[in-house]
Amino acid sequence: MDTNCIFCKIANGEIPSKTLYEDERFRVILDLGPATKGHALILPKGHYANLYELPEEVAGETMKLAKKMAAKMTERLKCEGFNLIQNNGDLAGQTVFHFHLHLIPRYQADGQKIGWKPMEVTQEELEEIKNEIVG
Ligand code: 5GP
Ligand code: ZN
Repeated sequence: MDTNCIFCKIANGEIPSKTLYEDERFRVILDLGPATKGHALILPKGHYANLYELPEEVAGETMKLAKKMAAKMTERLKCEGFNLIQNNGDLAGQTVFHFHLHLIPRYQADGQKIGWKPMEVTQEELEEIKNEIVG
């Protein structure tokens, strides 16, 4: 646990939160600045700044928990879609440097647009990029 980290304090119960789920390793809380009704965050109780620092096992458990939470929230909130979002680094929009996975229920006319402007790319460029990553 990092004593300067707000999500460490929330995850470990030192700061109260609207908790949807808790076990030994995780807490799931409602986001204070929600994108939509029910926007929640999965927080591991251990402090890992981002995906790169997250142990593989915790990464796997996080996705299992996301699946469970998405099912429960969809049933209860009657949402019609669901986004999972996870930001790493300032540039990517991360503002709290304790790994978290956003659970964002989506509704008709919820007024949110989560996405990107697609670039144009050729097959040759895709081939080069592929080789850069895995070549
Ligand atoms: P990030 O931009 O790092 O991916 O997401 C951080 C999220 O944490 C934001 O959606 C923000 O609203 C939420 N947040 C920041 N501080 C608090 C807090 O003290 N309590 C809760 N419940 N959410 C917080
Ligand atoms: Zn932390």
